[in-house]
Amino acid sequence: MSPNLLVLEPSSLSSMEELRKVLQERGLAVSNLPGKGRCLLANKDFSPGDAILRQEPYVCVPNNSAEPRCDGCFASGNLKKCSACQVVWYCGSSCQTLEWKSHRLECSVLAKLENDKRKCVTPSVRLMVKLYVKRKLQSDKIIPATSIDNYNLVEELVSHIKDLDEKQLVLYAQMANLVNLILQWSDINIKEIAENFCKV
Ligand SMILES: [Zn+2]
Ligand SMILES: [Zn+2]
Repeated sequence: MSPNLLVLEPSSLSSMEELRKVLQERGLAVSNLPGKGRCLLANKDFSPGDAILRQEPYVCVPNNSAEPRCDGCFASGNLKKCSACQVVWYCGSSCQTLEWKSHRLECSVLAKLENDKRKCVTPSVRLMVKLYVKRKLQSDKIIPATSIDNYNLVEELVSHIKDLDEKQLVLYAQMANLVNLILQWSDINIKEIAENFCKV
């Protein structure tokens, strides 16, 4: 495991406070500056070349709108579609095997979709589906959560919903509706999904 990643017991996870503690140990503080919004301030001197913070995205998907890309390594060319869901592409069995733990649940919900709806699964819609799938997998402890890799941090993001025009809000509502239709989980609702679209 990378020394940069601090794995904490799930019971000790409490989103921002936990993150603040981890950042403090690295000489960083979360702050709010007028006119700039939420930001990181350095509490110590860093030298050129120092890695200040390394964080993987909570979820990511390749932008497949121009050409298919592998879901594991984002490579293009010579790809095969996941035969079960017919949505996700892989360059080979090694990427498919590596991704299976997180794709398995997503695959089962995508596979249930009717063909015309499946065509509407854009990268943005998939990103949101993957976000909820990862939240579920972490809460079911199928994949581990860490202090800098947990859903609470997504929840802490600022939504900027007030800055959006009506056209954008309608689009997000439609996308949220599709995500809700794909997942059909009782613990999520369209409003919450739409708010998340305003965050990512
Ligand atoms: Zn690949
Ligand atoms: Zn699949």
